[in-house]
Amino acid sequence: DEILLNIKEEHDISEVSYRTWLLPLIPDSVDKDILTILVPDSAFISYVKKKYEFLLKITIEEITGFQCELDFKLKSDVKEPEKENRLINVTNNTVSQLALQNANLNPRYTFDTFVVGKNNNLAHAASLAVAESPGEIYNPLFIYGGVGLGKTHLMHSVAHFILKNNPNAKILYVTSEKFTNELIDAIRNKNNVSTTEFREKYRNNDVLLIDDIQFIIGKESTQEEFFHTFNALYEAKKQIIISSDRPPREIETLEDRLRSRFEWGLTVDIQPPDYETRMAILRKKEELEGYNIDNEIIKYIATNVKSNIRELEGALTKIVASSKLNNKEINLELAEEALKDLISPNAAREVTPQLIINIVSEHFGITPLDLIGQKRSKELVFPRQIVMYLCGDMTSESLQNIGKALGGRDHTTIIHGTKKIASELKTDENLKNTIDILKKKINPQ
Ligand code: ADP
Ligand code: MG
Repeated sequence: DEILLNIKEEHDISEVSYRTWLLPLIPDSVDKDILTILVPDSAFISYVKKKYEFLLKITIEEITGFQCELDFKLKSDVKEPEKENRLINVTNNTVSQLALQNANLNPRYTFDTFVVGKNNNLAHAASLAVAESPGEIYNPLFIYGGVGLGKTHLMHSVAHFILKNNPNAKILYVTSEKFTNELIDAIRNKNNVSTTEFREKYRNNDVLLIDDIQFIIGKESTQEEFFHTFNALYEAKKQIIISSDRPPREIETLEDRLRSRFEWGLTVDIQPPDYETRMAILRKKEELEGYNIDNEIIKYIATNVKSNIRELEGALTKIVASSKLNNKEINLELAEEALKDLISPNAAREVTPQLIINIVSEHFGITPLDLIGQKRSKELVFPRQIVMYLCGDMTSESLQNIGKALGGRDHTTIIHGTKKIASELKTDENLKNTIDILKKKINPQ
């Protein structure tokens, strides 16, 4: 313990790196001048060696006077593997707000708030390794997994970590939608941004994170441009991190030259969380929000909400909101009532106005309540009209029902909104791209 703590303090190792790489190391045996150390995870044995072997050796000598060689072995090769589930604690995190804004980062998405479980430990470890050594080891890092499983959270965590160590690092996080829309603007020279400026913006980075790449594929000009951006960054040894809902080999419309490049680095997946991890995530959320909720209720949510972490968090929020609104204590009855829509037996996702409202509000970073509410600011009216248009296009609901779902608007309002979007779609390429992406989010088939 003393050796590990000493390394942490003397060499400024972050809490998360310490917990991920150093704490799990187990000294096993000494034979002559060889110390055998057990490592829990095979995928990262070589990384731990490369990054920490030297520090371990010198610190061991400093503290014990024992000069040794290290032999790293996989724990499961030596002993019965132990079941373990780590819960990462929150620590204070301060990075300049300006740097965060410039990089488009959510301050809540850090390694400190990311719960590590069996479903995501490889993705977490790979992301941390990249954060510690950007451009040096796994390039590109390709993270894939279903909706709401933590891809965006992990990508932001990497960016926060790098910025904290090096506030001058040039980091850019974009969704593939933003990449595409900026490219469209540049090609049309809108706002006097030329393609040269576009290229500079994307190529002049130490780390480029592109989220949800599945939305640019199938668009030839975007793929072409991304191919060149990728090459420029890669050749300059700059870090690229890509996320997608599926692995490169399953993206049908991806050009082969891009597919093979995506596989040059490391590809890791995130799976849906198991029960223990769901519990840990709920407890973490409870702690972060300062809630105080009975174990009974937490167990009820973890047992019933399984597929997706966004829904898991949503369930907790819904219960708390319902308790506040109704001025009632949180008990099992209230929880069951609050979650009855979420925990429905038929899990198949039907396209309903409610689903469209949820996805559109998330996409625009507004709350569903604001979206269906009465405020008429531009940031709300536009997504609201998009919902009207999509409900007409993707559901068979009557205008009356769409109006009802949208906070009780009458059918003329719905017609007006739908027409407005339909007419703008004829000329506005960006809007077309956004609608395309929203449709894919609503109905991935
Ligand atoms: P994705 O990008 O894969 O669709 P997100 O990264 O947006 O998913 O995650 C959805 C929500 O779940 C976010 O609020 C995020 O903070 C939370 N979340 C996901 N994974 C974890 C985790 N391992 N620990 C804590 N919160 C998580
Ligand atoms: Mg995401």
